[in-house]
Amino acid sequence: MNATTIAEGVRRGELSARTLAEESLRSIRARNDELNVFLHVDESGAMAAAERVDDTVSRGLDPGRLAGVPIALKDNLCQVGVPTTCSSKILEGWRPPYSATVVDRLLEAGAVPMGKTNLDEFAMGSSTETSAFGPTRNPLDPTRVPGGSSGGSAAAVAAAMTPLALGSDTGGSIRQPAALCGIVGVKPTYGLVSRYGLIAFASSLDQIGPFATNVADAALLLEVIAGHDPMDSTSLPEPAPDLVAHLDDGVAGRRVGLVRELIDGADDEIVESVQRAADVLRAAGATIVELSIPELHLGLSAYYLIAPAEASSNLARYDGVRYGLRVDADDVTAMNEVTRTAGFGAEVKRRIMLGTYALSAGYYDAYYGQALKVRTQMIDAFRRAYRQVDLLVGATTPSVAFTFGSKTNDPMAMYLSDVFTIPTNLAGEAALSVPFGRGEANLPIGVQLLGPGRSEAQLFAAARVLEAVERGS
Ligand code: GLN
Repeated sequence: MNATTIAEGVRRGELSARTLAEESLRSIRARNDELNVFLHVDESGAMAAAERVDDTVSRGLDPGRLAGVPIALKDNLCQVGVPTTCSSKILEGWRPPYSATVVDRLLEAGAVPMGKTNLDEFAMGSSTETSAFGPTRNPLDPTRVPGGSSGGSAAAVAAAMTPLALGSDTGGSIRQPAALCGIVGVKPTYGLVSRYGLIAFASSLDQIGPFATNVADAALLLEVIAGHDPMDSTSLPEPAPDLVAHLDDGVAGRRVGLVRELIDGADDEIVESVQRAADVLRAAGATIVELSIPELHLGLSAYYLIAPAEASSNLARYDGVRYGLRVDADDVTAMNEVTRTAGFGAEVKRRIMLGTYALSAGYYDAYYGQALKVRTQMIDAFRRAYRQVDLLVGATTPSVAFTFGSKTNDPMAMYLSDVFTIPTNLAGEAALSVPFGRGEANLPIGVQLLGPGRSEAQLFAAARVLEAVERGS
């Protein structure tokens, strides 16, 4: 059952939130040992939330728009009292004293958080293989990765453990795993969703967003979590947009750019899927314009300076004093050092070193400063494109889900997994991935739709057009 149907049933008193939570727990237990999706299952918290919803319904009150819908939370989102690790040993045992704004909004809307899902350590990765607690397996083919960094959240939805999940997307970490797991994933406009209580990786790029089995559920979830939050200084000063109301707007009269740089280098079946998606949009009344945006090729190099630079600063707080792990030593400096040496994994250390180097006095202009200029070029390039067209279409990923270990020894190969998703984060704009077509080994392909800031309603409407064809309805 999808989230929209569940919430309607619970609100009408025809479905019990408690029963739904029990069913979700059963499906988590059935496959979690095999797939390693949840790092922590919050059974008592989930049952208490579900009972509150049933109680609200029985008193004739409105339990909210996500009443009784089980949801999985990426383990970089704080929920008061619930262990939160970022898949890092450095946070092991830490329980946040507060909840992320998105978690509060979910609970107000009657959703039932089931627990915390696995990710690449501190969201740095594209396969969930850098987790300190072992990789997550792709439910569609357990010999392959689910993508990352929000691999656990994507797998929870793909394995039907929960109909919804939240992830975070700094360079592709929602869209890429959504594509690899055959579900819908959305990277909202920067500032649309509050980052308060999201453990920071690269603050100017991070956004929280939904995973769902279908477009309508993703729109509903985004409406619930979006909207201004005074606790996040980068939060847009406006209420959540109407998304569900526009789902059936279609694409008639829209201009859609098919972007060469967003398919270059992708597997043949993926290029074909994107072209077929463009044909479907054209048949639904859109005008397709073939475009080239050469600046997009610069995205990866700029991202791998800006994101590590911000991460090196954000991760300075893990000092053995304030959170989680402490390894004792003779003095404070030595304690900081041995704690960080023991607590962080190799990829996190690589990023801290890269970022510290890029920000260091002699190199700041040559690396970080240069990357910021490229970022501005990227913003300008998108702006020019959006003078010609309303939306863009391209691939989400260059390949379908890959096998374990195939990219772990070559950081560049892993980084290239996000070549099509990173530009949106640098520009602070909106994009989503919707399943469309199948590739190697019959694995799902994600088509990416991109738009300017605040274009979510248009993106969902276009994604619905593709979804209807994909499902043959
Ligand atoms: N894979 C990219 C990285 O490793 C993006 C990660 C993300 O979006 N959190 O940085």
